[in-house]
Amino acid sequence: MPATRLPFTYGIDYSPANVTSAEFRQKLAAGPVTLMHVGHDLPFRAVAITNPGYEFISPAPATPAEVRAQIEQLKKYIADLRAAGVSTVIPYITNCIMWGDHERRMGYWAAFDHWYDYAEFGIGERPPQDPFNWMQDDERKPATPHPGYWYSPCPNNDYWTDYLAFTAQWAARCGYDGIFMDVNTCWCFCSFCQRKFRDYLAERYTPDQLRHDLGIADVRAAALTEDAPPALMAEIETFRAISVARNLRRVRDAGAAIKPGFIMIPNIGPFGHFEGADHRRSTGKSVELWAPVSNYIMYEEMLFPGNLGRGAVVDNILAYKLSYAFNSPAVVLCYVGNDAPSSELAVAEAAAFSGGGAFVQPGTGWPEVTNRYNRFMSEHRDLYEGYEPLARVGLAFLYHQVHMNDPEHLRGIFRARDYLSEQQVLWDLVTDVSTIEKLRPFDAIVLAGGRFLGDNEVAALRKYVEDGGTLFIIGEAGTHDQWGKPRKQAAFADAMGRAMPDEHGVRPGMLGRGKLLWATDVGAILPQRPFAAYDFKEDDLANLEGVYKRLSESPEQQPGAAGKLLVDYLEQATGKRLRTSDPHAPYLRFNGWRHGDAKTGRIVLHAVNYNVARTGPKETGRLTASAPAKITLDAPPGWRFTSAMRYAPDAAPQSIEFTQQGSQVSFTLPPVDAYAVIALSTAR
Ligand SMILES: [Zn+2]
Repeated sequence: MPATRLPFTYGIDYSPANVTSAEFRQKLAAGPVTLMHVGHDLPFRAVAITNPGYEFISPAPATPAEVRAQIEQLKKYIADLRAAGVSTVIPYITNCIMWGDHERRMGYWAAFDHWYDYAEFGIGERPPQDPFNWMQDDERKPATPHPGYWYSPCPNNDYWTDYLAFTAQWAARCGYDGIFMDVNTCWCFCSFCQRKFRDYLAERYTPDQLRHDLGIADVRAAALTEDAPPALMAEIETFRAISVARNLRRVRDAGAAIKPGFIMIPNIGPFGHFEGADHRRSTGKSVELWAPVSNYIMYEEMLFPGNLGRGAVVDNILAYKLSYAFNSPAVVLCYVGNDAPSSELAVAEAAAFSGGGAFVQPGTGWPEVTNRYNRFMSEHRDLYEGYEPLARVGLAFLYHQVHMNDPEHLRGIFRARDYLSEQQVLWDLVTDVSTIEKLRPFDAIVLAGGRFLGDNEVAALRKYVEDGGTLFIIGEAGTHDQWGKPRKQAAFADAMGRAMPDEHGVRPGMLGRGKLLWATDVGAILPQRPFAAYDFKEDDLANLEGVYKRLSESPEQQPGAAGKLLVDYLEQATGKRLRTSDPHAPYLRFNGWRHGDAKTGRIVLHAVNYNVARTGPKETGRLTASAPAKITLDAPPGWRFTSAMRYAPDAAPQSIEFTQQGSQVSFTLPPVDAYAVIALSTAR
């Protein structure tokens, strides 16, 4: 797992008036975010090349004199934002939206037809192919209420990508520190895509492998299609994600050639609900494949975290943990439910769970929240930097399964992770189960579905159990290999013997020194909450009225009341205490990190209080501090703690009484407002 970095504060504001607004500068100076993400404030933009103003689109392109004036204005603007206290400033572009009318030669085409007017800016040769031919499909959507149409250019089109790289160069020359890339969707079948797909296959596979594993007799005849067997479909989806990543890399590198360290933050869209995450896997969205070219990954969610009432809690923990696992921390934007207490909770959640990311505050955010957390995090860098997870339970998240059209794996992850967070188990994602080293840090691995397991994955999981680990399988697993071919015998069937399922449908297996448990009925072991935000569609979550209507149709269920089924099995099998608080403190969720060794070791427990409640769509969220909570943690073997301190924003650090018996450390966590950190040290 990567070492954690310092979380930070982040604001987003697309108002075209900001470039010249004194008010915007003043608001920002009152509570400067670390990273400010602005709109279309660029001399050269994606959607229509140039624009005399800073709106997303405009009826006429800018003249070269207007572009020159904008460059000077933008340099001053960015310098002013830095003077207001912002460290990093990035603008918006998109690799999948073009605006105009190719017949009436408007928008992108108006400037394209005057390409050489911009020669002085280094725009280079005009592409030989009309932009109309750069599109992912023949559809264009009316841009109502604006004139013209929206088009969808292909991120694999080299002319388009070259142009995007040119916009990034000018962003860097104006003084920006990076680019936010919107949309990142590839569903295209154009000639660039088909050729690059054949190159992709030829690079990765020998002709024999192509024939044997993917059923492709001749790579020259291979083609992207909408329907293919699982293994080929997985290659198509992987290719699309790699295509987006290549587009991002080209744009980032162009900026970095002008300004070293130029960053890239792509938008992956919503991940907080199952349907959104599952749908997007097929159009080039992959945290795993984007992470190597992305400094951070943006998740665009609906609901602010908090307590919706009737026992329903919303959080963004999965996005933060997924991005951390791939070393490209998440920045999470939410649209619905913005008020100061919800915003503070969201910033605290990012501090606790992201390992170096941020919550994206709409506008300039809430200055008092920004200032409080900037101060706290910068004064206590030692609580954040250079840690690795303390988690005892690893939840497998295998992207290749997801691409094999295995929605049950993804659905199982959503369900299991919600349950583990609610039960206050310290858990993390395991994104690679093919080597024993990735599994060893955990006392237990939960595999929620995963029909398509490679031989190396099966071997590592078996070895993990043989060596003493606990593997809990939920649903179908290992019935096929990674190429989608059925196995003669399912991967762990031999270890299950003739054991009968218990009253919860769980069967024990025998494999070496460890424990293998297999539940075939997901519902029996992972009780479904009556209201689980991840189960709704995006539109259901788009406004609080809709959310509360849904909620009114669900029975009430307090957090923690869902039953201790899975966690009871895991505690029994591992012999370890896995629940962090007992009795259950209903609205607290925990994350743990560790660094150092038995002599110099430190563990930090981040406690986030999600009890920012509203009782209806028109209410402002109200924070209720948690009651004192009895906490027990399992220390790394051989660690003896000598001190425990509590830290919280706007509170003096406080020493805490604790006891340690063997590896079990216990203490009472004082009431938590939004956020507190407990640090336990072994150093004398
Ligand atoms: Zn294409």
